[in-house]
Amino acid sequence: MKKVKSVKKTATSKVTPKVTPKATPKKASIKKSRLSVETENILPIIKKWLYSQKEIFLRELVSNAFDAIIKLKKTALIEDVRDSDDSDYAIDIRIERSTNQLIIEDNGIGMDSKEIEKYIANIAFSGAKDFMKQYEQSEGSRKDGIIGHFGLGFYSSFMVADKVCVDSLSWQKTAKPTQWESDGGVEYEISSGKRKKRGTTITLTLNEENREFLDKARINDLVRQFLDFLPMPIRVDGAEVNRQNALWTQAPSSLKKKDYEEFYKYLYPYQGEPLFYVHLNVDYPFPLQGILFFPRLGHEMDLNRSNVKIYCKQVFVSDEAQDLIPKYLTVLQGVIDMPDLPLNVSRSYLQNEPQVRKIATHVVKKVADRLNEEFQKNPKDYERIWQDIAPFVKYAMMNDEQFYEKASSSLIFRMADTSEQAEASFTTLDDYEIKHKGKIEKKVYYANDLKSQSGQIEMLKKQGIDTLILDAVIDSHFAQFLEMKREGTTFVRVDSEISDHILDKKANLSLAGADGKDAEQNLKELFQKSIPNDKITYRVESLLDETIPAMVLLPEQMRRLQEMSLLNKGATAFEFPIEHTLVINSKNPLIQSLAKPGISLENGKSDKRIIAAVQIYYLARIAQGGAQRSDIEALLQSSFRVLGYLF
Ligand code: ADP
Repeated sequence: MKKVKSVKKTATSKVTPKVTPKATPKKASIKKSRLSVETENILPIIKKWLYSQKEIFLRELVSNAFDAIIKLKKTALIEDVRDSDDSDYAIDIRIERSTNQLIIEDNGIGMDSKEIEKYIANIAFSGAKDFMKQYEQSEGSRKDGIIGHFGLGFYSSFMVADKVCVDSLSWQKTAKPTQWESDGGVEYEISSGKRKKRGTTITLTLNEENREFLDKARINDLVRQFLDFLPMPIRVDGAEVNRQNALWTQAPSSLKKKDYEEFYKYLYPYQGEPLFYVHLNVDYPFPLQGILFFPRLGHEMDLNRSNVKIYCKQVFVSDEAQDLIPKYLTVLQGVIDMPDLPLNVSRSYLQNEPQVRKIATHVVKKVADRLNEEFQKNPKDYERIWQDIAPFVKYAMMNDEQFYEKASSSLIFRMADTSEQAEASFTTLDDYEIKHKGKIEKKVYYANDLKSQSGQIEMLKKQGIDTLILDAVIDSHFAQFLEMKREGTTFVRVDSEISDHILDKKANLSLAGADGKDAEQNLKELFQKSIPNDKITYRVESLLDETIPAMVLLPEQMRRLQEMSLLNKGATAFEFPIEHTLVINSKNPLIQSLAKPGISLENGKSDKRIIAAVQIYYLARIAQGGAQRSDIEALLQSSFRVLGYLF
């Protein structure tokens, strides 16, 4: 660090680029000096820089006071410090409305006159020139980040004050109290101070535009916003304001679930319990601590911006954690504390700092680890929260290959159970495939609507085949993604193809009262005539479940295409004509009556068989779940006609 340069203030003295330090005259113990030359350009910049966020002056001054107390504590361990009995460490903020003064006081290490000159007066320390150079070469918001590197925090007080007075008494017993006073120009005064006890008092005489900082509620709010977790009592006019206890700095092993839940409630009072938390605690490649929460959804939440707060040594720095948390995890809430971060961190700083980019990778890894840990240790709890976290886990997996690789072993699916009481059971895809090995190879049967697909689900179940539930909006994309990731795996919706397992081979073609082939032909003709549509293929099969007359099958790929066009285009895509198959169940008694020969098809629409066929077809469409408005209308018409036959 460069030696202190202070110059005598005389009427004629002009600031010139190079000024040699000279002893200042001791006039009534008041020493008037100028800040060193380079600073002249800096003060206006500082003033301008902080204009949009001038309240951070409080954070800067309190942080300095905190550091001073920590330094004192350390010094007291090895040295005989002044006022050693004063160990009620605290930072006091006082408001003096009558004089427009805001006072920040600490009982920390203090400064003697030399230190005041060195640390406070000489802001044009060795770095100032570099600072100016970098500052001038930088663009826009990048400038904010630069200031943070140069330790000019104290000078932010000139954003709000006409006059700043530092009164300090050093821990060293021989030191005398010293006062430094400046109005934010390049001149300052040093005189003897008034402090009787060790520590520092900073008195800001607020300028006219900033009298809001004489409002106690405003100061309390600022303390809570920026300094709530600073581990030191902060008192405002005598009353302690901050919470102090920063849970994230404690060892995870010493904390219980309820501690995290309590902390979450403190941070987000109206959002219920978190589903899940991740405690971050690393030293390498950079020190980082924090706690992230998966919130319960359904409350107001802005997913376009990060919900995580950034701290630096328990002091709040920014809400702008977008660059720390990958976009697909913006649902996460909580805190991240990075002690190496400059306090005046800016968005652009975060974007340009290579360490910061590594943080995102780290966060993702920790979230995956934590999911795996919870799944292995508390599978029941994990299953309980799965419904809520699944969309995010799936979304994250589709966005980040690494996350998929790390967390895929904890990817579970709920299995369909059509009995109402049963407790939900879950499976991983690996377990599903192992269980069904030799039966359906790498097919994965799934349903998206338990009610309409229960027939198929039941039939599969009778054959010992489980159906997974994939009913979230994201699921059809996710299934496609998994097919890509897991070689050979194919997802098949229970109503998209006819599985051998729901066919009753022995009973096939045993249509009552007819020889099989003709009966099958009869049925196909009947349906073709009743519902003439070349998008429909009619197939006669013998299903295990004889209660179902017919079933619509939508080919998996065709249906996915339709779903996608629906997502993209909205309601108009409903009219998309889709090829499908009507499986006519030859085991069903009604179908068997329809197949009886001897009923003429020539009577056209009034033929009862045609009316029945139409009704069966539209009921099957509705049961399949993909019914469109026109199907429902057709069914209504057909139902009315059926009713007509009753009387
Ligand atoms: P920084 O805190 O980034 O170093 P500042 O301009 O805020 O920059 O402070 C400059 C220095 O002044 C501090 O590093 C510290 O040595 C000294 N200082 C400031 N405030 C206090 C205080 N309350 N007690 C003791 N020393 C202080």
